[in-house]
Amino acid sequence: AKVGGRNQVCFFDTAMTRDLVRRKEIEVELRSAIQRDELSIFFQPIVDLETGRIRSFEALVRWFHPEKGELRPDEFIPVAEETGAIITLGNWITAQAAKACAQWPEDVTLAVNLSPMQLRAPGAALGILTALRDAGLAPHRLELEVTESLFLDDSADTVRFIDELSAEGVRFALDDFGTGYSSLHYVNKYPFKKIKVDRSFVSGPNAGRKSDAIIRAVAGMGSTLDMDIVAEGLETIEQVQAVKAAGCTLGQGYYFSRAVPDYLAAMLLAQERER
Ligand code: C2E
Ligand code: CA
Ligand code: CA
Ligand code: CA
Repeated sequence: AKVGGRNQVCFFDTAMTRDLVRRKEIEVELRSAIQRDELSIFFQPIVDLETGRIRSFEALVRWFHPEKGELRPDEFIPVAEETGAIITLGNWITAQAAKACAQWPEDVTLAVNLSPMQLRAPGAALGILTALRDAGLAPHRLELEVTESLFLDDSADTVRFIDELSAEGVRFALDDFGTGYSSLHYVNKYPFKKIKVDRSFVSGPNAGRKSDAIIRAVAGMGSTLDMDIVAEGLETIEQVQAVKAAGCTLGQGYYFSRAVPDYLAAMLLAQERER
């Protein structure tokens, strides 16, 4: 660190300062990352646990930074949300992902993550429908993944957005289920077609007999209400068998595949259709 005073080196070298600097860099560089062609969309398969076939792909954004290397979305999406950059970024992600999905077989759908702020932007629903039209993708092939944080203010805007897109055929999935508050209220209130059970129920320190019973209960509810229940974060065959036995209909995780570039996603689909 370059400093004026003698005893300040320590202060400027703290991890906190470095984090702040990095954050600021990310904030500034993210604005032009799209133009510099540093962002790309990867796709992770979501697999039918009964047949083993790919039912959809989740679009996950990747940032390949020329100096910093690959940045995780967990690091830059929150920055984009705070600065409002998520609106431009989110529109770009939806447009790119829709173009890829338009190349896949008709019965394969696309899941895109939606940040709460994107939906509150004026003309948000129209923006999504326009992206779909430009890509030539039918609205029923898009599924928007939202988390419980979306409903914290539970505003009229949220209701209107979901109603407007549902009427056009766009579907909604409740993501990271079980990590927020009063989720069942939202399951009751909104027309979710799918619930994604957070991976903390499948693996890690909190997975076990209790979490297994919870997955079973959620899966039971899913089958009664005709919703797909996705188990996230499946890494081992044992986990796959356990969530299948518990009644989950779909699975996602490294056991099947990591998120891959669009040409590999297309290859996975072609391979599976040859079988
Ligand atoms: P998420 O929506 O819960 O996405 C799933 C995350 O779990 C992804 O991380 C995925 O790579 C990771 N994952 C999948 N299978 C496994 C597994 O078997 N084991 C483990 N340990 N992890 C697995 P990723 O891509 O780093 O994304 C992190 C979060 O960033 C996402 O969580 C989502 O909230 C956000 N995000 C990613 N892409 C986008 C985007 O395009 N738009 C928005 N708004 N948010 C995004
Ligand atoms: Ca997701
Ligand atoms: Ca998730
Ligand atoms: Ca998440």
